[in-house]
Amino acid sequence: MFQKSFLFSFIFFIAASFSAQAQTGPRLTQNQFQVFVQSPQNFQAIQNYMVWLKKNDYDIAGVRWQEGKIEVITNQSGLDRLNQYRVPYVVVRTHGPRNSGPGIESTDKIDPRYLNPQKVEEKLRKIAAQYPNDTRLEQIGKSHQGRPIFALLLSKNAKRNDMNYLNKPTLVFDGMHHAREIMTSEIVMDVADVVLSMKRTNSQWNQLIESWNIWIVPMLNVDGNNIVWTENNWWRKNARANGANIHGVDLNRNYSYAWNACSGSSGSMSSDTYRGPSAASEPETQALMKLGYMAYPTASLSYHSYSELVLYPYGCQGALTGENNLHQKIATELAKMLPSDSNRGTYTAGTPWKLLYSVDGDSMGFMHSEFGALAFTFEVNQSFQPAYEVREPTLLKHRKAWAYFVQRMSQNMLSLKVVSAARMQPLEATVAISGVIKNKGEKPLRTNAAGNLFKVLDPGVYTLDVRLADGRAKQIQVQMTGAPQAQIVSF
Ligand SMILES: [Zn+2]
Repeated sequence: MFQKSFLFSFIFFIAASFSAQAQTGPRLTQNQFQVFVQSPQNFQAIQNYMVWLKKNDYDIAGVRWQEGKIEVITNQSGLDRLNQYRVPYVVVRTHGPRNSGPGIESTDKIDPRYLNPQKVEEKLRKIAAQYPNDTRLEQIGKSHQGRPIFALLLSKNAKRNDMNYLNKPTLVFDGMHHAREIMTSEIVMDVADVVLSMKRTNSQWNQLIESWNIWIVPMLNVDGNNIVWTENNWWRKNARANGANIHGVDLNRNYSYAWNACSGSSGSMSSDTYRGPSAASEPETQALMKLGYMAYPTASLSYHSYSELVLYPYGCQGALTGENNLHQKIATELAKMLPSDSNRGTYTAGTPWKLLYSVDGDSMGFMHSEFGALAFTFEVNQSFQPAYEVREPTLLKHRKAWAYFVQRMSQNMLSLKVVSAARMQPLEATVAISGVIKNKGEKPLRTNAAGNLFKVLDPGVYTLDVRLADGRAKQIQVQMTGAPQAQIVSF
């Protein structure tokens, strides 16, 4: 008995002390390898490999499902471990410390036409100056290294005191939680480009900012992206430092909801999924959370790369939201309309734990649990830094997908207004909706400062329980029919 438990704790000790990423800072002190682990080409085998890789704290960059290839960024001890366990793999590329000899570069050349932190700022300022009536630029935070983080509002009611701003639903787009995922800033910036430049000639885009407030955050991880351009183009985290030593935090494991909840992140600073010292400890995470509280989003789309997936919450093994049917349905619709870059099939829809591995403290979980937002994460492309020629087709297909998403939501939108009967003044209320179950620590749905709540509900009959802070409550029944509907509840 004693021996058995001793053996178990010994094995645990070995497993816990091993890290495939002894490398800490972004500046390379030893060689790093981009590796394709070759799995048999079936879903279950790929997943088994991923579970093993994750358990051993490998940095999984992405998956090419059709080829059975799992991309891993690792160092020599990581390669040794793959050899030890006879995991089949090929090394695709090697990065090394500066001046480490011919053939080994410290960073790959990324096409300079892709956005960097400075270009994002310049571009957003230019757009805001060019379209002052339909935009508002906000600095929502500042990174560890002092770089500004920007959000741009696209709306016909963009002025700070516009009374109608709160009478419309809000959609938040964000890109680049992870520094090396350079396509994601392009996709989010494209939302502003296409809507503003084409709104005069295209009624669809005009209608979009007429009836929605759209917030875009093209580049959340500004410090990390700077590292990608200057030091190490495989860098994923932010630039949190311990003295002079940058170790970084995985921003998409740092959100307050389900932080450190299910082994979906790491407590080790050197890990590429390091969750940070405490929930929401990072200024970049706080910036997007702040935008959330400012915008109270009806929906949120977050862009990552790569693996060609549409993910919906939650991230922890087995966890689903109280409106999983709707999430699953929409994710599947979106996945089907996104062809793979190789034109072999389409994107795949699922939760992170179904398709990849458990994830905790991610932004999608936060946006849904805090605001009841319909929240999706896209994993785009088949590599982090594809040739620039891949950009245009990627923007086009995602433009179709998010435009469809907005239309899909608008068609099934319940707009609820809660007012005082005597003076028609807006009232703040919480709203419970039958069939929308909240039993995983989510906040209740609530009206905004203008008494409005916007909720996407597919056809069906729903009972709404509307409650004021003073305890007064009313119940109403709503029948959704696939057309937008407005309801007023007065007290
Ligand atoms: Zn990512």
